[in-house]
Amino acid sequence: MFQRILVAYDGSEHAKRALETAANIARMTSGAELHVVHVVRFDRFEEGVFTEMQSLSSMSRSDYREIVLKEGERRLEEAKKRLEGEPFTVHSAVLEGDPARRIVEYAEEKGIDLIVVGRRGLTMLQELFLGSVSHRIAQLAKCSVLIAK
Ligand code: ATP
Ligand code: MG
Repeated sequence: MFQRILVAYDGSEHAKRALETAANIARMTSGAELHVVHVVRFDRFEEGVFTEMQSLSSMSRSDYREIVLKEGERRLEEAKKRLEGEPFTVHSAVLEGDPARRIVEYAEEKGIDLIVVGRRGLTMLQELFLGSVSHRIAQLAKCSVLIAK
């Protein structure tokens, strides 16, 4: 039923469960594709966090970008390792920008028919049921969205 599935992956326990759910669904369809997508953002650089780090380590803007991208790749490697030996095709991408927006754009570009997200992510403010990224993906996506629990 769902042929092209995207899982939004931030490395959190919730995202790990979303990955399991997405893999379970992909396994049910022959010829399914699973796209594991992680979005990194550099706006903290502008917001002053970086300025603080910079004064500590005299890190340049491009060094910071490199570190953020490398960490993104590392998270995806972890997810891909988990998917080794699965019968479906695995794609992965590290994207830059606003996470919800970039995930929805990628989904449209690739003709994704299901986006799987975790209920919460790395921030884990437990009083809110849904994180802002999963909430906005549900709002913006043109395809079905599954919130894994
Ligand atoms: P906050 O709104 O403060 O970020 P949170 O971190 O608890 O709260 P979300 O960020 O919305 O909640 O995370 C919910 C789900 O959205 C995650 O489990 C994951 O599936 C997806 N997600 C969040 N951030 C990213 C990201 N940078 N790249 C890919 N997927 C993400
Ligand atoms: Mg988050």
